[in-house]
Amino acid sequence: MSPSLYSVRMRASYHGQHLTGAERIVPQAEVSEVTAALTERAMTCPGELADEIQCSVEKIDPTTVLYAQLPDLSTYIAPDWQAGHRVASCLLARAGVQPEIATRAVALLASGAGPGGTVMRGALIMDASSGKRLEADPARGVRVSRMDLSPECRSALESDLAAAGLGHHRVLEALVLAGKVLGAPGIVAELCWSDDPNYTIGYVADPQAGYQRISDLKLAGDSCGGRVFFIDQAKTSLEELVDYLECQVVLFNASGTISTAKKWIPADE
Ligand code: AMP
Repeated sequence: MSPSLYSVRMRASYHGQHLTGAERIVPQAEVSEVTAALTERAMTCPGELADEIQCSVEKIDPTTVLYAQLPDLSTYIAPDWQAGHRVASCLLARAGVQPEIATRAVALLASGAGPGGTVMRGALIMDASSGKRLEADPARGVRVSRMDLSPECRSALESDLAAAGLGHHRVLEALVLAGKVLGAPGIVAELCWSDDPNYTIGYVADPQAGYQRISDLKLAGDSCGGRVFFIDQAKTSLEELVDYLECQVVLFNASGTISTAKKWIPADE
């Protein structure tokens, strides 16, 4: 009989402001160790010291787990953030997002997509052909949850990413999140860059091309960032999409390819 699985989730805040969060899906025997590791991560995250850390542990019904393969990873080089924005718009258009919607979405993330130009806590959902925003709460957005790597896949991926010079935990975690998003009903593409002022790399992901990193999407020191999920409303309802993103347990048990070749977008595209 396979061991019981648990979802372990942590989020830390300071004066009610979200600082950091992380989650894992692990066998019962690892729950205590992983809860301690996530708490340690909250206590040592750069910036303000957390004044509230919430950890939740929830048993998973094994019959509901969806097993999947991670997307392929590639990297586009942009000489500066302006070029990075053009690369992102171009990759989104290739994925099927209307070109002017893609450009508008990139500018929206750069200016802060939450109320009053703030950074959202989760992702905004946008219709890929009309640009209409669909998330119910424009400050919170939608938070993708309940996804992880199987233990064998985690150790293989960690060593493959390290060998490719991509050992930063952000790459692995974003790849897992994007992997879950790309399996969502009606998904056309995802755009992301971090609100961490020290991390200027982001990505565009789509079901055909996979997870495409972009070397520069903002200036160092800029604390704007966020995520946009572009969808085709003819292929899903918002309710079905949000239920999948928040609740469906997805465990990745196979990696995609990791390409170290550097790619450029042709100037005329
Ligand atoms: P990060 O890469 O963790 O810095 O996150 C970048 C942005 O993505 C954040 O500012 C949020 O807007 C959004 N985000 C972070 N975590 C999630 C998540 N689990 N689900 C949806 N959006 C997220």
